[in-house]
Parts: sequence; C-alpha cells; structure tokens
Amino acid sequence: MTDTSKASSTAPATRLAHAGRVEGSPFVNPPVIHASTVLFESVAQMKGKAEKPARYTYGRRGTPTSESLEGLIADLEGAEGVVLTPSGASACAIGLMSVLASGDHVLVMDGVYGPTRNACDGLLKRFGVETTYFDTRIGAGIVDLVRPTTRAVFLESPASLTFEMPDVTAITRALDGLGGARPIVLMDNTWATPLFYRPLDHGVDVSIMAATKYVVGHSDALIGTLACGPRAWAKVKTTHGDLGMFTGPDDMYLALRGARTMAVRLAQHQRSALAIARWLETRPEVARVLHPALPSHPDHAIWKRDFTGASGLFSFVLKACSFEASAAFLDGLDLFGLGYSWGGYESLAILAEPQAIRTATPWSAEGPLVRLQIGLEDTDDLIADLAQGLDRIAAHA
Ligand SMILES: *Cc1c(COP(=O)(O)O)cnc(C)c1O
Repeated sequence: MTDTSKASSTAPATRLAHAGRVEGSPFVNPPVIHASTVLFESVAQMKGKAEKPARYTYGRRGTPTSESLEGLIADLEGAEGVVLTPSGASACAIGLMSVLASGDHVLVMDGVYGPTRNACDGLLKRFGVETTYFDTRIGAGIVDLVRPTTRAVFLESPASLTFEMPDVTAITRALDGLGGARPIVLMDNTWATPLFYRPLDHGVDVSIMAATKYVVGHSDALIGTLACGPRAWAKVKTTHGDLGMFTGPDDMYLALRGARTMAVRLAQHQRSALAIARWLETRPEVARVLHPALPSHPDHAIWKRDFTGASGLFSFVLKACSFEASAAFLDGLDLFGLGYSWGGYESLAILAEPQAIRTATPWSAEGPLVRLQIGLEDTDDLIADLAQGLDRIAAHA
C-alpha cells in the first residue's frame, strides 16, 4: 500500500518528496524487493477462498517496490492506474498493442519518436494493424482522417528532433465530437514530464513517459511508464500482464530516487537550456533555434497556453555548411558528449536527420540540424564550449 494521503492536494514538488511511501513503514524509502516467489498462508488463501486475501501473489504481479513507483507516477499524472515497463520504447509499443487489434487503423503523428514508428511499421503491421502518419500541426483536422476502424491516435509533444507542437486540446476535442466511436488517444510526454504538462487533464487516455530521461535523471537505468485514464486502464493493465512485463527492482528504485530531485533538476535544465537557446539565436552561424519557449518558435502560443515549463532538450538549424564543418563543430566539443538519450545530468549533442524518417511532412532546412541536451553543468561553461565549436565551422568555410 502506498500512502498518498498527505500528497494529493499539494504542489508537484511536495508530492515528489512524499508520494510513493510504504504505508506504516518507518523508513522514508521503500524496500527494494527482489522476488519471484511469494508465500501464501494457506491453500484457501492461494485459491482466493480465505477471509484474508493475499496482498501479493507473484513477483511479476507486483511488489512493494513496484507499487511505490506506480503510486508516485499515478499521483503526478492524475491517473487511474500506472504500469511500468523495461524501457520507454517498450512503453510506447505496449500502449499501442493494448488498444489495437488485427484489422484496426491507427493515426500516428509524423514527428513521433523513431522507435515508435518502427513498432507501427514492423510489429503492428505484422499483426494486421494499418498506420497513417499525419502532420504534427493537423489540429482539429484529425477527424477527416478517422475511419470506422480507427481505434487509436498517437501523439508526442513536442515532436522528436524538430520540436513542432501538436495542439493536443484541439485534437482531443475534435475526437470527442465522434462520440462513442472516439479512438483512444495516447501521448508520449517524455519531454515535458507531468511536472510541465499533464496529458490526462487534456483529453488524453494514456500518458507515456520514458522515465529513463528526467525521472531517472542520471543516465543509469531504462524504464517506461504508462499512466492511464478510465477508458484505457483495464486494456493496458491486461496487455501488460499478458506480455509478462516486469521491470527490475533496482531500476525501479533508481527511478524513485531520481524522482525525489526531479523538480529542482528540471528547473535548472529549463533555466540553462533557455539561456543557451537565446544565446544561439544571436550567433551568425545559426539559422533557427527550435525551442518551444522562445517567442520565435512557430508553436510558441500552444506551449504558452498549455505548458507550465520547458525542459532541457531542443534543436537548432545551422546555416548551410558542409558535413565536415558540422562534424568539426560536434567532434571538438569538450563538455557535450556525442550520445543518444537525454534527461541526465550531463550535456549531449547529436546531428539529427529527421528527413530520413518523416513521411507526411518532409523535413527541409537551411542546413544541418543539431539537437542539444542541456545538462546540469555551469551554463557559461557550456556556452564557451559551443562558442568554440561554432568558430570551428567558420574555420571550415
Ligand atoms: C528516449 C525516448 C523514448 C524511449 O525511451 P528508452 O527508455 O530509451 O527506450 C521514448 N520516447 C521519447 C520521446 C524518447 O526521447
């Protein structure tokens, strides 16, 4: 049993410190239970015929450790129920598998995370589900794409790599107009986390997060979460169980530990990323900065209306330059590592290639696209590192 009594009416930062505690335990942290077997008191209890039902039945079916993290995430997201998965990518795939069956159709935002697209084009296709990709900025026009067989819509905000923002409210309101035939809406909310945007408050049925990123926060574990509203909870819970999904208890503990400091870390990621995005806008080598909290961002109005913050990940477009020049910029960076993933304490950079995966809305830009994850290093040190990098581009011209 997790104790959320003190938590539910308070601000998110307070909930992060208090949610997910084990009721009646004198310890502030939950035990890390390594378990397959759970012992019963009697045959009657094992068969569900005892007066006192078994609290736990089998390791895969829940432990005090998994309940603690599920409780904390449910509290933050305002969810009816939460399941944990071994990675963010598996959370996206399990969300889709939970609400789709052979012969169904799914609408997926074109700017979605690459591996989510792979799950649609491979796994789902193999099981007889057809996918249509739609323009991230489709808004209420989504209803024109809905077929009698459309059972799900998959969103992500902002778009992976390119940071366009779908108008989630316009999409879910338009779908509401379909009445009983309304598809289930799933949304990958890894970028904002429920601290800056709560999808379930905006008509979304399943809020998905790669907790690998800001919840874990230290680049040392993979974990996914699916936080469900009433229309999707039973389906997700059943499919997660049927797939035999369980996440390692040590990784759950790392996510819980990370969650305790998530609000302060995110505040710093936000501050540093915005400062660096504004600085990049002043540099002559940069064509455009793609950060939703900048007034220059084409979807800034949506971010301002719906989000209470911005995290530490954004992209920028360089003015036209050779591959060698962009590589010299990135290869020589001292503090920014070249690596995938994000949300950890350390800064990272990648050369992004959305043109390779977009189908509904082809990507074209003035020059190479660079994505930055701004870590918790000193902001001025990061700016100095990037300034030297941009100078290397000029040296290649
Ligand atoms: C990283 C990421 C995922 C996948 O998370 P993993 O834990 O690495 O599998 C899913 N969605 C988004 C938006 C991501 O950035």
